[in-house]
Amino acid sequence: MKFLVFIEQREGKIRKASLEALSLARRLSGGPVAAVLPGKGVTPLAKDLGKYGAATVYVADRDDLALYSNKGYVGALDLATQKESPDAVLIAATAMGKDLAPRFAARHDVSALADVMDLRVEGDRLVAWRPVYSGKARAEVDCGSAKLQIATTRPNVFPAEALEGSEPRVEALDLGDIAPRAKVIKVETSESKELDVAEADIIVSGGRGIKGPENWPVIRDLQQALGAALGASRAVVDAGWIDHQHQVGQTGKVVSPTLYVACGISGAIQHLAGMGTSKVIVAINKDPEAPIFKVATYGVVGDLFQILPEFAKAVREAKKE
Ligand SMILES: Cc1cc2nc3c(=O)[nH]c(=O)nc-3n(C[C@H](O)[C@H](O)[C@H](O)COP(=O)(O)OP(=O)(O)OC[C@H]3O[C@@H](n4cnc5c(N)ncnc54)[C@H](O)[C@@H]3O)c2cc1C
Repeated sequence: MKFLVFIEQREGKIRKASLEALSLARRLSGGPVAAVLPGKGVTPLAKDLGKYGAATVYVADRDDLALYSNKGYVGALDLATQKESPDAVLIAATAMGKDLAPRFAARHDVSALADVMDLRVEGDRLVAWRPVYSGKARAEVDCGSAKLQIATTRPNVFPAEALEGSEPRVEALDLGDIAPRAKVIKVETSESKELDVAEADIIVSGGRGIKGPENWPVIRDLQQALGAALGASRAVVDAGWIDHQHQVGQTGKVVSPTLYVACGISGAIQHLAGMGTSKVIVAINKDPEAPIFKVATYGVVGDLFQILPEFAKAVREAKKE
């Protein structure tokens, strides 16, 4: 099967989620794949994609693609699709990928497998499984006999593997006049230099069990010891104890870190929808019946105010060894 992968970059840095999709395409195709990279000043980034399996990189490097434009970026993906004639297109299920994939699929009159967590090739079709009902069940899905098979891949689920590889062939795309009907004028990033939970490999999250915002230092201590990002339940975000950018769950961010530590979080279904696919889940809760223990790999029943300082101390000591 011949693959084309959409590559997302932010401020001149290729997103890890796109490298994961590219590595996955290489594994599934068993051969070289093509990639498409839109943006401004992105041409020098193309050569790095060789290590992840790209034999050809179609680059749309233009001033008017500096900021995300649905029409412009889909246009680049479309033109690369015309040139490459792939059987399948993979796009990382980031905020951008989730915006772009439906339009691209609609243009080709096919459906897309959204936010998949497992993907395989069966004959001439992609078969995937994806979480449904807020992660309570898994659905196996495929694109039927669609002429173009499209899937968006959940970040942090598939490994990004850099191997020895030759530099890809780079081809510039001529998109002509894009004339977008909607334009992103400005992107304001938050002042904080905190690790984004959506990209972090380790997350330590706090819920209502922390009692009040004055107690974040207890969570922060373990977070810093582990070099983790700080997550939160919606209850504490709604209470104004922390900014929404930290919220994990159905109406927050969907995460799949290697390690998720839930502190004083009950494990409501809407929270599990955002973190239930983490590889290892450690839950600290004083209620042995808390639903979080149903998904936890390791559960500690007890008072987080006693456990977390000991936990952080043990991590620091283990790191010294
Ligand atoms: C449409 C919709 C969307 C939603 N989206 C989200 C979402 O995206 N993310 C999300 O998180 N929620 C979401 N919610 C809210 C969700 O249903 C829960 O209300 C919320 O997750 C509860 O947060 P919590 O676990 O911090 O608080 P609680 O449910 O109050 O749990 C606090 C936990 O802390 C434990 N605890 C208390 N003191 C201690 C202590 N000293 N030591 C250890 N443990 C202690 C308690 O035993 C309890 O289990 C959504 C709800 C709706 C209706």
